[in-house]
Amino acid sequence: MYRNTWMEVNLDDIIENIQILKKRCGKRIISVIKADAYGCGDRYVAKAALEAGTDMFAVSSEDEALILRNEGFTQPILILGAASPSSVHMLVKENISTAAYSMEWVKKVIEQDCTGLRVHMKVDSGMHRIGFQNNQELKEAFDLLLQHGCIMEGIFTHFSCADTDISYTNRQYDVFKEAVESLSCPFEWIHCDNSDATAFFKDSLSN
Ligand SMILES: *Cc1c(COP(=O)(O)O)cnc(C)c1O
Repeated sequence: MYRNTWMEVNLDDIIENIQILKKRCGKRIISVIKADAYGCGDRYVAKAALEAGTDMFAVSSEDEALILRNEGFTQPILILGAASPSSVHMLVKENISTAAYSMEWVKKVIEQDCTGLRVHMKVDSGMHRIGFQNNQELKEAFDLLLQHGCIMEGIFTHFSCADTDISYTNRQYDVFKEAVESLSCPFEWIHCDNSDATAFFKDSLSN
């Protein structure tokens, strides 16, 4: 059941908040614009995020990425969720980066021409949704994608409770750090800090 709901979001506040976070971490910013910016209108929020100095967008799925492309956004876009292996051709054509999150996914991707696909390796450090849980498998998947012409652009993980549980976040961070170091690849993008981690957690690994 739906009721009429009114929510007013000030775009100037979005700009200011992103600028504050960017200043606080001193790093590049990936603005996560999922689900039509949680119903706020992705094109308006994306434009505000760019004004605030966003370096990349992230979304959940192929359709969300394509909506941004169709709205004229030419900036880097990363799909954080489980994109379908059958989307590979479209992702290369539209220059959309995507998460590599399991060996099963990698095997389906390399069956086709995936040359030029921009990939971010997803490490499951404790959120337990998607991602590699084992560094040997992570390395095998990384090597396969590299051999098949993918651009190994990044590596990332997702903290589950950076606002409430610092010791769990520290454990997740250690798992992620070990995974990153195990690949010894100069990734252009190493990212782990969601909003809560950017506000409450300092890390010297992500860039
Ligand atoms: C959705 C998502 C985010 C954004 O999380 P916020 O808590 O809204 O900042 C960050 N990282 C990943 C991997 C996500 O899926």
